[in-house]
Amino acid sequence: MEAREGFTRMNVMHIWAFTKQDLISLGLKNMWPQFGVHSDKETVPIALVQQALTRIALILGVKIRIGCRYTGFKAAGDNARWSATADCVPDAQNPATIDQETFEFDSIVDGTGKRGIVRTTEPAIGQGQLITSRPASSWQGSNYAFTCNFARFKGDHRDQFTKSFQFAMAEFQAKKVKIGVIVYFRSLVAHYVIATVGADTLQEHGVAKDATLSGDAFTSGANINKTALMNVATMVAEEWEIPHKDGFFEEGPDSKGNLRPSVALFEFTKMQTAEASFRLMEPPAMVQELDSADADSATCEQAVPNSVQREGWFAGASGNGKCKCNRGMQLFGESDLCIGRKKFKVDELLGKGCSCQAVQPLVVVGDSMLTPFWPAGTGINRGFATALDATVNMINAFEANVADTRDMDVAKLASDRFIRMKDSDSSACSRCEHQSYINDVYAGTIGKSWSLSTPKCPKVTSKGPFEASRFR
Ligand SMILES: Cc1cc2nc3c(=O)[nH]c(=O)nc-3n(C[C@H](O)[C@H](O)[C@H](O)COP(=O)(O)OP(=O)(O)OC[C@H]3O[C@@H](n4cnc5c(N)ncnc54)[C@H](O)[C@@H]3O)c2cc1C
Repeated sequence: MEAREGFTRMNVMHIWAFTKQDLISLGLKNMWPQFGVHSDKETVPIALVQQALTRIALILGVKIRIGCRYTGFKAAGDNARWSATADCVPDAQNPATIDQETFEFDSIVDGTGKRGIVRTTEPAIGQGQLITSRPASSWQGSNYAFTCNFARFKGDHRDQFTKSFQFAMAEFQAKKVKIGVIVYFRSLVAHYVIATVGADTLQEHGVAKDATLSGDAFTSGANINKTALMNVATMVAEEWEIPHKDGFFEEGPDSKGNLRPSVALFEFTKMQTAEASFRLMEPPAMVQELDSADADSATCEQAVPNSVQREGWFAGASGNGKCKCNRGMQLFGESDLCIGRKKFKVDELLGKGCSCQAVQPLVVVGDSMLTPFWPAGTGINRGFATALDATVNMINAFEANVADTRDMDVAKLASDRFIRMKDSDSSACSRCEHQSYINDVYAGTIGKSWSLSTPKCPKVTSKGPFEASRFR
């Protein structure tokens, strides 16, 4: 489910060796043969990667709903599970018409970006936010940067660069627009610039009306003069010799069919980290067992609502029914006895307030889990690592349910993966190392800190654990 209706992101990202291997393993080179051939292709436009990954997802049978905005949860199935609700635009040409839709799910993944819209939902009064967050660093002041894209034209070559004030003071001081860091990447469609800029500088150039505001109030349309911002961006391009003679790249079209110059101002230091990357959702409401039931005659369903009789066992008077929850459900309830899924007897659980309810994991990925410090280029790369972890967390939750492995602590496994992921960096990564890492994550044999090098891959050309030859 995606609220947007098109690939409208115009940023260009630097990707790590691990991410590059991941994209190649997913088939990106089949669509973009030049990907990863030249070192400067290790920057990728977001929209291009989104489009490629969408195609791969469609081939794998993923159903994608665009123009649908998640709004919350609603109890379903006699309070045994949650459904997700969303506002969906059925016809992009008519964005004012919105249908409210309900989506059933077994697991839900929060990939809504730094606001963490799903994980911060309070599904029922008194349940609290599903997963809370805390500031990722003690520094919570505001810092601003602008991004812009200039149109490409024939013969517009310029080497890509990243520079910061502390390593080139004289060069920065000689410029009219005072900036702190500047990054220039050339994408297939545009010349992409990102530069950090102080509130005072923005006010001095007429971009910000009030430099004393902070955060969202500072970057709001009421405080920012877009034309002045475009002038500043153009001056920066001029001063740093970034090709811009054909003006700004036109982004869009938006839902009204309009194109607009690609320039934006944003705040980038208020970073949050989620308190957890995984949790089982508490069911909507505990289902109480029926009053009339007693141990001699009760059926499984009467003793433990939603439970069923195990095959080959009789319920009621002579059999003292042996019961289970169906797959995808487990026992919930206040008593310590309300755990697991299989093998419980009527007389053990009668009157204990247990019921079988849906196991619905919430997993968190990307910025919703950890807002990145973009100058470090950690954002989308950790997004890839968290997506892999989230997949394995969901697989573990499924395995624990099917096998009724009561001692398998999926939340602890997820937490270990989260801690390790926070160390991830741009270190070198061969195809073999990438495959070994994925193999280890899946097998649960990862170490405490991030490391891609392994004795299993002595050479850059070593075969990885998933190479076809290993399966022959
Ligand atoms: C200026 C800038 C430069 C950056 N440069 C780099 C870089 O060089 N390298 C790098 O690795 N990272 C970089 N980043 C960070 C990177 O862009 C993010 O880390 C990355 O986009 C996070 O991906 P995400 O999918 O978690 O979240 P997002 O990209 O924020 O995507 C969230 C999606 O969820 C959708 N959504 C939100 N709410 C709802 C809802 N209620 N229902 C349905 N859909 C919803 C949104 O429409 C959006 O498409 C940069 C970020 C910025 C701002």
